[in-house]
Amino acid sequence: MTRHEVDVVVLGLGPGGEYAAQKLAEAGLEVVGVERDLVGGECPFYGCIPSKMIIRAADLVAESRRAQSLSGEVDVRPDWSLVAERIDKQATNHWDDESHVTRLEGAEVRIVRGHGRLDGAGRVTVGEDTYVAARGVVLNSGTAPATLPIDGLEGTPYWTNREVVRLTELPESLAVIGGGPIGAELSQAFSRFGVKVTVIEAFDRILGPEEPEAAAVVARIFAEEGIEVLTGATISRVEHDGGFRIHLADRVVEADQLLVAAGRRPHLSNIGLETVGLDPSARSVETDERMRAAERLWAVGDITGKGAFTHVSMYQAAVVVRDVLGEDGPWADYRAVSRVTFTDPEVGSVGLTEKQARDQGLRVVIGHADLTESSRGWIHQAGNDGILKLVADSDRGILVGATSVGPSGGEVLGLLAAAVHAEIPVATLRGMHFAYPTFHRAIETALADLV
Ligand SMILES: Cc1cc2nc3c(=O)[nH]c(=O)nc-3n(C[C@H](O)[C@H](O)[C@H](O)COP(=O)(O)OP(=O)(O)OC[C@H]3O[C@@H](n4cnc5c(N)ncnc54)[C@H](O)[C@@H]3O)c2cc1C
Repeated sequence: MTRHEVDVVVLGLGPGGEYAAQKLAEAGLEVVGVERDLVGGECPFYGCIPSKMIIRAADLVAESRRAQSLSGEVDVRPDWSLVAERIDKQATNHWDDESHVTRLEGAEVRIVRGHGRLDGAGRVTVGEDTYVAARGVVLNSGTAPATLPIDGLEGTPYWTNREVVRLTELPESLAVIGGGPIGAELSQAFSRFGVKVTVIEAFDRILGPEEPEAAAVVARIFAEEGIEVLTGATISRVEHDGGFRIHLADRVVEADQLLVAAGRRPHLSNIGLETVGLDPSARSVETDERMRAAERLWAVGDITGKGAFTHVSMYQAAVVVRDVLGEDGPWADYRAVSRVTFTDPEVGSVGLTEKQARDQGLRVVIGHADLTESSRGWIHQAGNDGILKLVADSDRGILVGATSVGPSGGEVLGLLAAAVHAEIPVATLRGMHFAYPTFHRAIETALADLV
């Protein structure tokens, strides 16, 4: 057993861990990062980036078809191998196996390869080595795809996001369990590449956490594009014999391949949480506004249960860096967490939904706009589907939530996220200039409802 004394150990190098390690090393601290897989975590290799590369290609296919329907001259033959090749190039890990030292964009962080475990306050073990961190440990162990207790599923060669981003050839048909953001994004992308897709969702609609109006727009587009969506579905059994047979109450879905995109499971067991007084069977790690979870322990990322997004992980990591360096905030605030589902149309949302706001007892007023009726929507034509929904607290005269569905729904969201975050009075927003003819100008229409 070798003992190493350092300033900070970062256990798990997802986006937040990598960011914290880099910034703390830049500030002159001696930092060790422990990672058993790929430096950067799920997002750059199996998550956000490859999935958005697939979606970008699929959206181009859809746009070309729209152009074809206008001009009749574009020949669209989607080629999956180009996408697969691009993802393969992107997925090179920046891990230097020789030196065990990697430079994370300028700062020297020692990377230790292996499975790390907490071993009391400020201590992490990796194999025979113990790292003692004078300042403390940042835990960023992230998540893995959730496994489902469905009869017959285990042992079949079903896919998760990890397999999907490594495909070199497409199946003819694909069943997708889970109509959440990951399932919805990938379903539409594969469908646009010519795969026959069936989405199986237990809840009564896809994109369950989003506003029902937003989910309805996407469900309608899916139906128009030939994606079958089965909601309220209970799966009794899965069989695999060359292809998949997924048994529901009233029918059997047959598909060449099966993608399970039904949530994420946190990496919290087998990392020694009990040695620092925390419950290893919990779904998430409780943190305070400085991301402190226990003595000399900070936690960031999906394991904190504050939103499983790269931007949340990095936001929290920035909070940790400030706390470790003795700076004076700002500390973590989740009123205006924004998120985007990159379907076409995109679904961007921030803050509270109407239901969440009502459940909190707020006096709620709602503003709506239909993008197809806006000037830009009319100009745009094919692919112009979208809505805006604003949720205002009429007592305080501010927006507490907003949803932006449309061709650039995630970009339009930026203005609304600023409004929710900064609590800009609705009266001030109503007095703004909204450039003509943009999609974001439809916000002015929705604001007019908030009288
Ligand atoms: C298909 C898909 C698409 C997504 N798209 C988006 C998107 O568009 N936008 C967005 O914001 N988010 C997206 N996400 C979510 C995003 O990937 C995560 O929120 C993000 O990676 C942040 O996770 P994290 O920081 O908690 O750590 P993770 O990325 O999960 O990384 C944790 C790291 O810790 C390591 N680790 C765990 N335990 C140990 C241990 N004991 N010892 C050593 N190493 C350990 C793991 O190997 C891993 O590298 C997507 C996810 C998926 C799956």
